[in-house]
Amino acid sequence: MDTSNTTASPDRTGAFRRMGVYRFIMLALLPTVLLLTLVYWYIDDNLHEIKTAAGSTNEVHLPGILKSQRTLINIESLRRYVETVYNATDVEVRRDALINALALATESVFEANSRFVEHAAAARALLHSLDAVKKRSDQARKELARSTDIFARAAARLGVYAGMDDARESEALFSYCAKVRSASGAVPRILAQCAALRESREDMETARQRHAQADMEAREIWKRFDGLLRQLSDLASSSEAEMTYLAMERISRAAGRSHLIVYLSGALIVLILCVFILVLHRHVLSPITLASRSLRRIRDGGRVEDLPPVRVRELQDMLNILPMVSRHVTDLSARSGLLEQEKDRFRSLSLVDGLTGAGNRRHFDACLARSGRDRPLALLMLDVDMFKLYNDTYGHLAGDSALMAVARTMLEELRGSVDQAFRYGGEEFCALLSGVSAAEALAVGERLRKRIRNLRIPHQSSPVAPHLTVSIGVALREAGSPMSNQELVEHADKALYRAKTSGRNQVCFYNPAVSPLPGETAL
Ligand code: GH3
Ligand code: MG
Ligand code: MG
Repeated sequence: MDTSNTTASPDRTGAFRRMGVYRFIMLALLPTVLLLTLVYWYIDDNLHEIKTAAGSTNEVHLPGILKSQRTLINIESLRRYVETVYNATDVEVRRDALINALALATESVFEANSRFVEHAAAARALLHSLDAVKKRSDQARKELARSTDIFARAAARLGVYAGMDDARESEALFSYCAKVRSASGAVPRILAQCAALRESREDMETARQRHAQADMEAREIWKRFDGLLRQLSDLASSSEAEMTYLAMERISRAAGRSHLIVYLSGALIVLILCVFILVLHRHVLSPITLASRSLRRIRDGGRVEDLPPVRVRELQDMLNILPMVSRHVTDLSARSGLLEQEKDRFRSLSLVDGLTGAGNRRHFDACLARSGRDRPLALLMLDVDMFKLYNDTYGHLAGDSALMAVARTMLEELRGSVDQAFRYGGEEFCALLSGVSAAEALAVGERLRKRIRNLRIPHQSSPVAPHLTVSIGVALREAGSPMSNQELVEHADKALYRAKTSGRNQVCFYNPAVSPLPGETAL
């Protein structure tokens, strides 16, 4: 088969592209294979991404989250220490808190997170600033206390000088000092106390302002520190968690894509398979069914209808051959019919005597051999009387015609059956009658004899009659009798002999009780 030619071949539909069955199947399966390859590649890619994201989460982000937790705890401790630095009035307590806070800001909090270096520097600077401000605040508070003490003592003395009951009325004291200064002959001791009162009040005011200023700065620094700690908390809690969240998102997205692609590819494969089955049905299975139906029709002697073109070359070749096969089969069956007829003809010819049309000797032997023993069987042996003389008188051709007339009469009497009327040989005939009694067989013989006699075929030289006559011997085998075929023939022959020797032109029934005639045993 030529598999290289896949180009169009002309047919009823015009140009029609055909291909070999293997190429056809390959082309039909190619989309599925390509799709599966793509799906495999895509899912493999996604799985790789999932594996990477899960690995990094496991090895990097989760330890990072734990580290962040520790960082948050440290930030909280740092906040408490700084609060203590900010709030504590006890210098010792504040110093301890500052040391702890600086230690945390230097090591624990920031060591774990290298990205917080800038924040660490800022935190330490703020801590130092807060410490400095708090020291200034302490100093101002001390100065305030000292000047308050001086003011109180000066106020107490002046109160005594001025004879006031309540020395805390500072405005009254200052009015008293103003009077003393303006009076002549002022007492220097009182003036000194007035000067002390005025200076201590200015010092108190200055110290109060400095204290307030320091407190305000400290509050400002605390606010900034608080902001810084919040930033640090956000950074610590968000960085690794965010990375983990992103990794989980990547995993989720990749898994989702893989899931979708599996469903989509499944649906596509089902679709492709449906198309493949449809194409297979249309271009392979349907032509095969068509070919099978056509072959059955050819087998049953029908004609092949016009077959549509198909795409698969081998199937097209097969379909193309079908009309030829149909023609051959039709031809063969026609020839076979003729042969059957010829065979029948030859068979009948082989069974029929060529001259007379009665069954021939071979046919007689076969019919006798086939005859059953369940029914009686009569055999009639018929011989034309003085036929040699007839030939001598009228010639051989006339003799043949006479023989034909005798046979025709027999056939007419026996309803034209060559299975019953036979030419035994020469001018001798016989008949087989199944299921008859001796009387019926004798009656048939008698009718035959008379019908032949009544033909009135002239036989002037016959000593029996002026026309052709026959002698008939009849024998019968009863149903179930063990008599052989040969014995039956012998009995009929003996009966014929008796008819001949008894004067011819008569019918004799074989009777074994009758003593044999001279020469009868010779038969
Ligand atoms: P019988 O009455 O004793 O039978 O005397 P017959 O002359 O008939 O008997 P025989 O046996 O002496 O002669 C038979 C003759 O039949 C001899 C032969 O020439 C003739 N015969 C045999 N076959 C044919 C045949 O096919 N055609 C013709 N025309 N004659 C035949
Ligand atoms: Mg004879
Ligand atoms: Mg004869």
